[in-house]
Amino acid sequence: MSNIRFRALEHTVNRQPVKVIPPSNKVSDYFGINVFNKDAMHKFLPRDAYQAVMAAIDLGERIDRKIADQVALGMKEWATSKGASHYTHWFQPLTGTTAEKHDSFFEVSFDGKALEHFSGGALAQQEPDASSFPSGGIRNTFEARGYTAWDPSSPAFIMESANGKTLCIPTIFVSYTGETLDYKAPLLKALHALDKAAVEVCQYFDKNVTKVFATLGVEQEYFLVDTALFNSRPDLSTTGRTVFGHSPAKGQQLEDHYFGSIPERVYAFMHDFEIEAFKLGIPLKTRHNEVAPSQFECAPVFEEINLAVDHNALLMDVMDKVARRHNFKVLFHEKPYAGINGSGKHNNWSLGTNTGKNLLSPGGNPKSNLMFLTFFVNTIKAVYEHADLLRASIASAGNDHRLGANEAPPAIMSIFLGLQLSKVLDEIEKSVKDKKMSPEEKTALKLNIGKIPEILLDNTDRNRTSPFAFTGNKFEFRAVGSSANSSNAMMVLNTIVANQLNDFKNEVNGLINKGVKKDEAILKVLRQYIVDSKHIRFEGNGYGDEWVREAKKRGLNNITTTPPALDAFVSKKSVKLFEENGIFSHREIEARHEIMLETYIKKIQIESRVIGDLAINHVIPVAVSYQTKLAENAVALREIGMKPEVFSVQSETIREISDHISVIKTNVEAMIEERKKANKIVDAREKAVAYCDAVRTHFDVIRKHVDKLEMLVDDEMWPMAKYRELVTIR
Ligand code: ADP
Ligand code: MG
Repeated sequence: MSNIRFRALEHTVNRQPVKVIPPSNKVSDYFGINVFNKDAMHKFLPRDAYQAVMAAIDLGERIDRKIADQVALGMKEWATSKGASHYTHWFQPLTGTTAEKHDSFFEVSFDGKALEHFSGGALAQQEPDASSFPSGGIRNTFEARGYTAWDPSSPAFIMESANGKTLCIPTIFVSYTGETLDYKAPLLKALHALDKAAVEVCQYFDKNVTKVFATLGVEQEYFLVDTALFNSRPDLSTTGRTVFGHSPAKGQQLEDHYFGSIPERVYAFMHDFEIEAFKLGIPLKTRHNEVAPSQFECAPVFEEINLAVDHNALLMDVMDKVARRHNFKVLFHEKPYAGINGSGKHNNWSLGTNTGKNLLSPGGNPKSNLMFLTFFVNTIKAVYEHADLLRASIASAGNDHRLGANEAPPAIMSIFLGLQLSKVLDEIEKSVKDKKMSPEEKTALKLNIGKIPEILLDNTDRNRTSPFAFTGNKFEFRAVGSSANSSNAMMVLNTIVANQLNDFKNEVNGLINKGVKKDEAILKVLRQYIVDSKHIRFEGNGYGDEWVREAKKRGLNNITTTPPALDAFVSKKSVKLFEENGIFSHREIEARHEIMLETYIKKIQIESRVIGDLAINHVIPVAVSYQTKLAENAVALREIGMKPEVFSVQSETIREISDHISVIKTNVEAMIEERKKANKIVDAREKAVAYCDAVRTHFDVIRKHVDKLEMLVDDEMWPMAKYRELVTIR
């Protein structure tokens, strides 16, 4: 059989699990061996340099050039001792993947002597050719200069590949004129703003708190598909998703995949990438099957957010590389298969202090619980005030398929608190009045607040349909797409919470200055926030149509597509927020907005081309061949004297095929026309809307008829691997 589909299938038949041998049976023996972590630094750096790096990590202090030289020297010694020959600044441009530019340690000195060298300058800053990374008009390509600058708060690491090892230095990426061009720089700024605001608020409760950091645990969902099958589907290999494909007879209806046993080949893959992740200090903890067939999930133990984001980006890269050894392709797309659940990246977020406290964990006594409630309610208020911006932070062409499709949270932002805490907030709302509280009222309230149990974890009901849910000691932002860099969503979340905490502090101080006692002032402001932000709280089923109606009544937005969702980034309110908190200048956010629109346009444009090509060059010819076969058969039957009733099925099928072909052809042509029109539009927003509303609308129609043909045409002739084949792992 010459059909590419069958050749691919043949490849998959004899696949065996790859044997994986861990460096040791104990993970602790090799965890972080490829990381320039505290231990390694201690060993390879002089005392001064070590302390300077620690101060940079803990206090954000600058590292001067002389010290940078010492760090570079130690880092090079460490890296070469481990067999690294090259180094690279590792960064996260807005393309969504990670980027590297490798340089050799090897140098030839002026007198011709060969040596290994790495200077503080090379460690601290590099000038990659930035012209090919998106910059949203900030940096003209002829002025192709952007800088990467060392982020000492995320440790350097060694990437191993079959043919060598490279020292990777996490960096931010900025334009020649200083504007941010990546995900990391704004996140670091947001974390700085949050630290400052949160520490000030903590001072009301605990003078020992001098640092607050956000924590993040990322649950990563993904699909696996055999490489042979992946390569046989041009749509999957160019867009990351299948643009055609009839749903299989057995999809996820039976839900037997979830928590079922992991197939051997997949198990080997998981084991293998976990080993690589452990070596890189990525603390993976859980692995399991997901709801859809061939869908899986892994999650690490949470970490400080900057590190957690880096680790997630690195993990995706590691998974992709390791998958090749196992003849798998990892699909991080939010919706690789229509009709089958898509993938998300739940972002578990909380706040931690230098004193070891989780600020979103109740403490078991009134004082500690008031502190908890402060951060809890302020987060709710922040999400309420900036729900549209939070929605914008997760907008992408891929995620549009998922949000609101009754498998992932809707595009409406809301918060789930659970019964217990909802009640606590309701009581505060009722008991704290505008007038001065009586001593009895105060005691009653204190008692109430004191009653919040220390361990909420087991009591919090699990509502899986909420985009933003409190889960006992953290919030879980579930609407983030599986392919996204978490930075974007986390930058927004931390910025809005920082901003909110500043407002809170000002309001409380205002009351204190008027003579109100501290605790009462705090409660008064919190009560007002509880009242103000009530509409964002929703405990019911987020998948139902009722919620869509109810949300509308409440005035909550339900923006289902990316181009309008992105507007919130450049609204007056957001620009003010970003500027006041030192995250983006107006120019930077405009540029970023443009990049996001362009990314969207490109994605839809590519999908549209793939749909057109596949429909015209693969599907229609095959359908026509089959039609010819049927026609020849009908003619032969007539020739031997059969009546038309005998070949009525053939005739009917021939007609049906013609009808489908005709609709496909007309729609592909119309789609191409719309694309031409859209391409003439100069304004990025308008162009994105045209792609969304005029081009993309043809996708479903074309697909519907192609999928019908898939059911009509002889299975032997169908060129593309079918869903049942793609999602079955042998
Ligand atoms: P579930 O599937 O029930 O949501 P998981 O155990 O799969 O739970 O994932 C929970 C994630 O939340 C893990 O990555 C975990 O480390 C993380 N997490 C736990 N506590 C915190 C915290 N304080 N801050 C941030 N993330 C946390
Ligand atoms: Mg979860």
